[in-house]
Formats: sequence, C-alpha cells, structure tokens
Amino acid sequence: MLFDAHTHLNYEEFSEEERLDRAREIEESDVEFIIDVGDSVESSEQAIKDAADYSWCYAAVGIHPDKALTYSDDDIDKIKELASAPKVQAIGEIGLDFHYGKDSKAEQIELFRKQIRIANELMMPIMIHTREADALTRDILIEEGAFSEERKAHFPERPDGQGEMVADARVQLHCYSGSLELAREYVKLGATFSIGGPLTFKNARKTVEVLEGIPLQFIMSETDAPFLAPEPKRGRPNKTPYIEHVVRRMALLKDIGFDEAVRITSENARRFFNIEVL
Ligand SMILES: [Zn+2]
Repeated sequence: MLFDAHTHLNYEEFSEEERLDRAREIEESDVEFIIDVGDSVESSEQAIKDAADYSWCYAAVGIHPDKALTYSDDDIDKIKELASAPKVQAIGEIGLDFHYGKDSKAEQIELFRKQIRIANELMMPIMIHTREADALTRDILIEEGAFSEERKAHFPERPDGQGEMVADARVQLHCYSGSLELAREYVKLGATFSIGGPLTFKNARKTVEVLEGIPLQFIMSETDAPFLAPEPKRGRPNKTPYIEHVVRRMALLKDIGFDEAVRITSENARRFFNIEVL
C-alpha cells in the first residue's frame, strides 16, 4: 500500500467540499497513509483536524520560509504547542527558499533555526523545504544539531539496503532537488529523502541521478499535492492518488517491481514517522 510522505490536504485554498472530495479520493485509492503537512499555524491546525477525522492521516506542523517576514513569536510558541497534539509526527515543513524569498534571507534563517530547536527539544522528525539554498540548509541543520549524536541515539537505526543497520537522525529533505554528491553527504549525516512528481518530468536529470545513486532504503514517495503533479497529470492540480505514477517511475529506474518499490518506500515512511501497522 502506498504512502504519501508529504501532501497538503490542509491546503488553505480548498473549500470544505474540495477537502472532503480529496479525502474521499484517497479512501478509494491504494494509498494507505499520508502526512498532511502544515506551512503556517492555521494550516497546521487544519492538518491536526484532518488527522483527527481520518485514520489514514497524520500531521506535521511548522511555518514555511515564505512566512519569514510575517510570523510572530507567538506563532513559534503555538507550533511548539501543536507539536504535542495527537497524531503529529513531525515538525515541517521548515527550511529555506531563496528562489522566492531573496529579500528575507536573514529572517528565514532565524525562523528555520527556531523550529529546528523545537524539533530537537521534543525529539521529533524534521521535514525540510529547501530551494536554491542547498549548502546553507545543510550547514544550519548541522549547526543546530539536527544530526547530533543525541538525535541518532534517540531514534532506532535503519537498514542501509546493503545488509547493514545505520544511524537515523530523522531529517527528511522533501522534494529534494540537490546534487547526488550532497545527497550522499546527507545519507552519511543520517538524512532521508522524499521524492515526488519532478522525478517524472522530462528535465528530471538531477532527481533521476539521486534516485539511481542512493539506495531506495533512504527514499520515500510524496506528491506535495496540490502542487507538482507527476506525468501524465503534469499541469493539473496534483492529488495524492497520483503518487502511483511517482512510485512506478522509481521502480522503473531501480529496475525492481512496482510492488517492491511500494513496500520499501512505505516501510521507510512508516519508520520515519513512527507509524505502526497492526
Ligand atoms: Zn509542501
């Protein structure tokens, strides 16, 4: 059964009817679990509500770097409070976006640091959004202790795909678009990747290189719906059930069966987000 490790059922522009439609489509699909990711206090609250409404929905709470000029310290306190709500499995999405946020770099860095500290204090998984800030994102994660020995000792080890168990700092790079070289460095640090629609795009060279160069044990599947729809749905609003196209491409590139790709990516996500299957 498929796992969408990063999606926005909480999307603030959905009407209640649209949200119900998206939920019904997920229930009718082969998707077993989703992580409903917040990007503001309000959307994080909606994600918690969604998680209460649907057994297959879990939440992540956080403030996106695009709010760096508008958030308040009360919002940070609120995120910390929300992080303890039932079925909140991670802090995210947090990070740096220097593609859109050229004028708020200092504020983004501060907001990012504050939320990594919350995740460390509560010992929670972290979901990272990073765009045109690859090296700085890595440096800040290291400086703030996201890959600390304390975190790695707290979370159980994971298989490395080659028969060994390795440390896991429970840091997920969402929609990873950096180089294979940096990806290998991140794996050594204890990070995990989540890859979505861009893997299916014609110009996906870098994402394909990462997928081919990193064992699938370090990769989860995601949609980032309603954004970034995969081929053959590209250009339309994305939906969680379209994740099948992403995992089919992963299976093709890894030269394994679709069912095995589903099994491995779902296991990775369940382990990362502490979701037991009874
Ligand atoms: Zn997202």
